[in-house]
Amino acid sequence: MNAVQLVSRDIAPAISVQTKVVDYMTDFFVKKGFKWLLPVMLSSITDPLWPDPAAAKMKAPEIEAYGSKLKLMHSMILHKQLAIAMGLEKIFVLSPNIRLEERDRDDGRHAYEFTQLDFEIAYATMDDVMGLIEELIVGLFDYARGLEELSELGREIPKVKAPFKRFTLGEIEEEFGDEEKASKEIGEPFWITDISREFYDREDPEKPGHFRNYDLILPEGYGEVSSGGEREWQYDVILRKLKSAGLSLEAFKPYLEIAKAGKLKPSAGAGIGVERLVRYLVGAKHIAEVQPFPRIPGIPAII
Ligand code: ATP
Ligand code: ASP
Ligand code: MG
Repeated sequence: MNAVQLVSRDIAPAISVQTKVVDYMTDFFVKKGFKWLLPVMLSSITDPLWPDPAAAKMKAPEIEAYGSKLKLMHSMILHKQLAIAMGLEKIFVLSPNIRLEERDRDDGRHAYEFTQLDFEIAYATMDDVMGLIEELIVGLFDYARGLEELSELGREIPKVKAPFKRFTLGEIEEEFGDEEKASKEIGEPFWITDISREFYDREDPEKPGHFRNYDLILPEGYGEVSSGGEREWQYDVILRKLKSAGLSLEAFKPYLEIAKAGKLKPSAGAGIGVERLVRYLVGAKHIAEVQPFPRIPGIPAII
């Protein structure tokens, strides 16, 4: 595709749906009393995205500014915890994330620049957050069924009911093989819980080796649209997990200082991938179809 072909695509229906989806979701959080943060795009610390069995190891690109090195944000997870530490009890942000995904991740749902609607709630449990996302998705799907853009595209959004089915990752692997196959076989959104991954997701203190986290999976093979968890907040636990993951303590220095001072609080939250959600709603084959300026792993950006 060249630059002229890029601007000749009909992106209007997807952007119209995206406008309504972002409006619906931000309104949902504002009405629930969440404070709306503006995004952080550069920081000395960001999400390591590691260890995560489903993710590739990647390094956040850095820029030099005023004598310090700043990373382009992988996600705002750590800043969400810090905002909670500042006494903001319920927050959300439309967060632009840069992730230089492996070239072979051009699978229709990975872009290397995308936006999460990322939120966090002080002292919340996984059930609180899962219930909130279910309420959001049920309402959003009901709303989307009435959108003329979708009827013009011939896209039918199923009626869904809360609570969504829950499976542990172990159950998914045993019953379906993997998440992808489960997403194709289960005809409705469902949860995968108990995933061993990044240090900030909370290990169940009563069941060591199990994790109080969750992914929301969309049907028809669309796959993961949201990830979240209860968080670690105790310094000794965070330190132990960083060390056992082989991560550099230096890379998290200010975060660790804050944790050591006892300032982190228990919290839980999640991030919803905006482009993935829009892609599902409009029934697009590829995430590039909903991005005016596609950022596809392995493919040079035209503009
Ligand atoms: P995946 O396993 O699909 O690579 P992930 O688990 O690494 O995703 P998270 O770190 O959980 O992604 O990010 C939170 C949310 O952000 C995801 O649930 C998804 O909706 C969205 N997201 C993550 N990576 C991408 C990407 N490369 N392109 C588009 N959206 C993404
Ligand atoms: N947003 C996710 C969360 O809240 C983390 C991520 O982006 O990786 O857990
Ligand atoms: Mg995830």
